[in-house]
Amino acid sequence: MSALPSGGCRDLPVLRERGQREVFCGLTGIIWLHRKMQDAFFLVVGSRTCAHLLQSAAGVMIFAEPRFGTAILEEKDLAGLADAQTELDREVDRLLARRPDIRQLFLVGSCPSEVIKLDLAKAAERQTARHAPHVRVLNFSGSGIETTFTQGEDACLAAMVPVLPATQARVLLLVGALPDVVEDQALALLAAMGIAPVRVLPARRSGEMPAVGPNTVFALTQPFLADTREALQRRGARHIPAPFPFGEEGTTLWLRAVADEFGVSDAAFGAATEAPRARARKAVAAQAATLRDRTLFFFPDSQLEVPLARFLARECGMTPLEVGTPYLHRDILGPDLDLLPPVPVLSEGQDVDRQLDRARAQRPDLTVCGLGLANPLEAEGLATKWAIELVFTPVHFYEQAGDLAGLFARPLRRRALLSPATALEAAE
Ligand code: SF4
Repeated sequence: MSALPSGGCRDLPVLRERGQREVFCGLTGIIWLHRKMQDAFFLVVGSRTCAHLLQSAAGVMIFAEPRFGTAILEEKDLAGLADAQTELDREVDRLLARRPDIRQLFLVGSCPSEVIKLDLAKAAERQTARHAPHVRVLNFSGSGIETTFTQGEDACLAAMVPVLPATQARVLLLVGALPDVVEDQALALLAAMGIAPVRVLPARRSGEMPAVGPNTVFALTQPFLADTREALQRRGARHIPAPFPFGEEGTTLWLRAVADEFGVSDAAFGAATEAPRARARKAVAAQAATLRDRTLFFFPDSQLEVPLARFLARECGMTPLEVGTPYLHRDILGPDLDLLPPVPVLSEGQDVDRQLDRARAQRPDLTVCGLGLANPLEAEGLATKWAIELVFTPVHFYEQAGDLAGLFARPLRRRALLSPATALEAAE
């Protein structure tokens, strides 16, 4: 780990941007959520644009039985809204009759004004009454207005919390949709320390959904789950604040916070973590050679920016010039902000033109940004990393620490390989 100045970013002034945004909408979350929840179906109530977004974002994945779809709502006047509810009921009836494997159905709202006027919460209640107990119907919004793409998962999980069963038992809840293989690694580490029982939200199947209550403690695995956190707290559960499990240090501190809550001894903690810690350190070091002393600029996009900047600065030796994030939830990001070495600019929200000006003026070695900004910046000679890849790739916990560093090292290596001569050849 590098010996960077400490002091943290918790008390740094924050540049608040309130301009134009260039991000994907919350519907994007369906792409990873539908893989995670194996008996759920996501029915987007939206426009042709929404259908296109889903098709192009998920187009590479071919399923015999897809677990998401779009009910396209054509333009309607007010009188047409009652018909729209009836049409939606018919659509749902048809879907559930055809697909008895569906146990949870999410009606996902979108931006068109016709959809906003449609009361999807009422529709979900009505349809739950029709199809219970076999299917539970919930609703959330994936609308793109004033949101960013990771909020779709937050909205989905927050919608599930009020209907989770109640319990008085002391339970640890892991909150966040991780790839199964990564989730299994986390569960194995906790089991090795003797922490039990541990449940996960979202569970892979509806029958395994966790119960929650005043003796539930929960650890977030994603930093973008602010609404879910609040919903769990309303059910009496308590959040365990911790840095996020990115990199060797983040994973160790996240596990330590959970272990302290459950009174795990240093010996038991060391026995469970020493070997994977050593592997993670070695894997990160192999990538850090490319990253050390390189400058870094984060456009606000995934809400993972603060923990990733902490990882890249402290474990990989990079120098963040600006860390922009769509929302700076201090209750969630506080432990990461404490560890992040002071950065010249910590910004919240987006004003894309002003941020582009700052990036162009500083010409960072690596810019982490959305897909829409990456191509123009690459054309201007800046190396970029697509933020969205970070939610589609397994990056959490020890065994993925090297891969996480590698995601940032790759664009720098590629750029180094593209000598002026090969660039000229490619252009011809
Ligand atoms: S929800 Fe809104 S932003 Fe997202 S695809 Fe549909 S219309 Fe576009």
